Order: sequence, then structure tokens, then C-alpha cells
Amino acid sequence: MSYKIILALFVVCAFGVFGFTDNTVTLSRNGNVDTQTDKVNNVVADKALAIASLVLNSKEFQDSIIKLNFPYNNHCEGCKKGRNRKEMIGGQIVLDSILREGNPKLTLHILPYGKKPTKRKCFGLGRTCPDSYAITSYYENIDCSMGNELPFACSYAVHLCHEYSHNVGYCHTTNNVQTDIAEAIGEIAYYLVKQWYDTKDQRLIDLL
Ligand SMILES: [Zn+2]
Repeated sequence: MSYKIILALFVVCAFGVFGFTDNTVTLSRNGNVDTQTDKVNNVVADKALAIASLVLNSKEFQDSIIKLNFPYNNHCEGCKKGRNRKEMIGGQIVLDSILREGNPKLTLHILPYGKKPTKRKCFGLGRTCPDSYAITSYYENIDCSMGNELPFACSYAVHLCHEYSHNVGYCHTTNNVQTDIAEAIGEIAYYLVKQWYDTKDQRLIDLL
């Protein structure tokens, strides 16, 4: 056996045994948060980014997303609508998209609210164009949606998981968690963070 074959076998085994192929994503800020409310500053944003990264890298999240399948029109270029095609987007493809870039630097904008929330309705929580690094988030809408159950850094983290799916190229289709990638990711992230918060999971507590 030539040394090249032995070397190739070693590399293949090392990848398998040590998991060198496992990717992780660490979300971070590109400069200061551009905020129009004193409720959200760099410290809050950094906590949320760290919690969102914890979610996206967790086995629980990854095991959930890879089981799903989505219509092709979830894939968008820029702010245009997605095209219909027969092929489906498997959960593994979605996960690979999320893990594609190790340390994406996000430009974070915070507005006090988008459409003013009411007692009955929280409305949209933010906006992000697919294939961009910018995320705009609405403080009051996020807090309206999850503030009864979670501290803001956790709610913002759930929202960032949803928005980051837009950053990596997915857009809204039906707003239904069964068929809409961003909604599915937000839903998985929400239940995971809520479970971690309610059970005082040390991974989360360490970041709060
Ligand atoms: Zn969205």
C-alpha cells in the first residue's frame, strides 16, 4: 500500500472519528447595534447572538430541522419572490446553509416597533432581505410576542434564528411552519429556548 493511500485512509478515518467535518456557526455584530430604543444595546445584542448561535449549533435544533422538507419557492435571491419548482429543499440543505459561513458578521438595526402591537396582535417582528447581512428588528413586537415567557435577550435570540434563515437565502412563502423555512426555524428555536429557560439549562444560563 502506497503512503498516499495510507495517508488518504488516515484522513478519512480522522474525519469520521473526530468529526472534523462538523461545522458550527458563530453569529456576531458588524459594528455597534444601530438602535433607536434604550432597551437594546450591544450587551443585549451580544447575549442574543450568543444564544442564537447556541440554538443553531445544538443537536436538538439540528435533529429537528433535518427531518423536515420544504417547497422550492422558499429559496429567494434578494428581496424577490421565490420561483416554483418540483424539487423540495430537504432539512439537511437548510442546515448546511445555516452552517455555511462560520462567523457571519451581521448589521443589526433595532426600531422601537414596526406596526404598533395591540393587546390582541403582535404583528411582524422584523425584516431581512435574503442573501444579505442586515437584520432589522422591532423591539415592542418581539417583546409582545414572547415577553411574557422569556427575557428579551432570549426572545431576540429566537427572532435572530428566524431572521438568519433569511440571511442565508430563504424567504417567506406561506407563513406556515409546515411549509415555510423561516417560520419552522423560528418555531423550533422558540420551543428550544423556552425549554432551556424553564429547566434552567446551564448552556443558556451561562449566556444570560
Ligand atoms: Zn421572516
